[in-house]
Amino acid sequence: MQEIKVQLSKNKKEKPIDEQLPFGRYFTDHMFVMDYSEEKGWFDPRIIPYQPIVLDPAAIIFHYGQTVFEGLKAYVTKDQDVLLFRPDENMKRMNRSNQRLCIPEIDEDLALEALKKLISIDRDWIPTKEGTSLYIRPFVFATEPYLGVAPSTTYQFVIILSPVGAYYKEGMNPVKIAVESEYVRAVKGGTGGAKTAGNYASALKAQEVAEKEGYSQVLWLDGKEHKYIEEVGSMNVFFKIDGEIITPAVNGSILQGITRKSVIELLKYWEMPVVERKISMEEVYQAYKEGKLEEAFGTGTAAVISPIGELFWNDLKLTIHNGKTGELSKKLYDTLTGIQTGKVADPLNWVMKVEE
Ligand SMILES: *Cc1c(COP(=O)(O)O)cnc(C)c1O
Repeated sequence: MQEIKVQLSKNKKEKPIDEQLPFGRYFTDHMFVMDYSEEKGWFDPRIIPYQPIVLDPAAIIFHYGQTVFEGLKAYVTKDQDVLLFRPDENMKRMNRSNQRLCIPEIDEDLALEALKKLISIDRDWIPTKEGTSLYIRPFVFATEPYLGVAPSTTYQFVIILSPVGAYYKEGMNPVKIAVESEYVRAVKGGTGGAKTAGNYASALKAQEVAEKEGYSQVLWLDGKEHKYIEEVGSMNVFFKIDGEIITPAVNGSILQGITRKSVIELLKYWEMPVVERKISMEEVYQAYKEGKLEEAFGTGTAAVISPIGELFWNDLKLTIHNGKTGELSKKLYDTLTGIQTGKVADPLNWVMKVEE
């Protein structure tokens, strides 16, 4: 494996206090950087002081959006160990996204090594208050100055770290979701399955409209028939109907969340009925009418589990679980966050310790 060089920062920044941490506004003292060229492949892996990136205005990233990203978190346990949750899955997914965007793949072991080394250097930045964590953002982007539409011949891979506050400051509270029947997030054959910037830029409009109407996120339907459920905001989605837990099957346009995968594995481990299949909004509505829609929740790294208290669809308001957090949502949240923070046993071997 290539050696990771380290250049330490001489002026350390002031750290924010745990109680006032927002999401994604503060960044630590260092960053990881590695370059790619056709001649050298990925080269010069290094940890350097956190600093701006200088790019040519013609860099392909600015014009054609050839870029991918990842997101995961590190937590400190009460014994002062630093734990990562399934980081190997993030690196695998990053390379799947890379393939889709014609970006050269990255050595997953090297990326993981870089991540751990960066975290141990900026260890003091990891907040410790209940619910807080260190958010990790690896990303790759095309740097070649060229206005022709073609894959770049040069890239940079960067990892930055951001201490973040608790997602739920006053306990879990269910969100209100508007079902989006006009705009779509992704289509089969498109890039919905890759974590790439364009998917998020194209989702902003629907989000803006929903927020104006008092909803916190949108529920995305399929891009062809506008019938089948895909995701909720930038989370995967689950429904508990008549005792069975259902999540839309991966179909090329849904992003394969690691929280989604973990929820499915955990439910199987608990021997609860869980299925991945196509599910339409009409089916959810029928279940609701028959009193069988027991719970609904989103899954993703930021919130872990986000209970859905209300769905707004075609002028109909579907109140789920009286607008309160359901038992399964709570149990999944407590178990996953418990595993992530080392508070409960890790029966499926998901956490990885960052050595000092
Ligand atoms: C990142 C993301 C998710 C959730 O993935 P996790 O690995 O669970 O954080 C779901 N949907 C979209 C669109 C995403 O970008």
